[in-house]
Amino acid sequence: MRTFRRRRVTMAHVEATLKHWMPRGVRAVHFTGGEPTLHPDLLAVLQRCAALGLRTGLGTNGWRLSEPAYAARIAPLLDEVIVSLHGPNAEVHDALTLRPGSFDRAVRALRHVSRPGVNVVVTPASLPTLVDTVRFAVTLGAAFILISAVSPEGAGNDAYDTLAVPLSAWPAAAEAVVRAVGDEVPVRFFGLPACALGAARARSNDLYWSPRVTVEWAARPTGARLTSVVSMKPDRGRAPVAACADCPWAKACAGPFVRYVERYGDTELCAIGGSDRGTTPPQP
Ligand code: SF4
Repeated sequence: MRTFRRRRVTMAHVEATLKHWMPRGVRAVHFTGGEPTLHPDLLAVLQRCAALGLRTGLGTNGWRLSEPAYAARIAPLLDEVIVSLHGPNAEVHDALTLRPGSFDRAVRALRHVSRPGVNVVVTPASLPTLVDTVRFAVTLGAAFILISAVSPEGAGNDAYDTLAVPLSAWPAAAEAVVRAVGDEVPVRFFGLPACALGAARARSNDLYWSPRVTVEWAARPTGARLTSVVSMKPDRGRAPVAACADCPWAKACAGPFVRYVERYGDTELCAIGGSDRGTTPPQP
């Protein structure tokens, strides 16, 4: 992180990136972070994308979007906004963000956006409130809800056990979410293998993956460089385990996070079998 702290994406970086990728078929740009609304040129960048006819999206913690004047300026430039909401109340959400007031800000931001997406990042501490969080997101007008498993990286590895929900805890949680929301709002689970979702396995985001290019800072011997990472499948940091060889979902499912398996083994994963064995996973 220290390597990238003083780096800023410039308009020249944006122009070069679009010039490279648009002829290769990129038609939509999603800005995420860190927190993209901290960037002083975000509005200008979005205006440039709109002028080029690109579809635009923003993933945000909602802090700035909670300000009516800022929301009024940026909302018309966005086709899709995803706000992070990690709990059903300030106690849970602010404990995760370590930022008092962030829950109130996220809620106000969600009220400034028409049909927002909601991103819920789940840790062992917030898992017991997941159903309440999802229900609350629905009352705020969520058009879709993305529930994300944490795969700690960097300094997060020091707190792996407190950040990563055990795979064995997911089936009951995912099924409870689906029972609570039904088909009222689309819910997808991000970064989780299908067999970790129990009867909710068809909600795995792996099945709905679109090929994408992630442009991010990367450390190089000559210093930090903006780098493009192409993900044709949702397999970044993930890999099949032994059970996948005999699993009918293996073509669509990217398997667990490698780091998780290195730490806890693969015994929580099992080929989808029994009466489900002949079930064909929904086609992406
Ligand atoms: S056994 Fe492997 S391929 Fe099958 S659902 Fe589990 S992780 Fe995915």
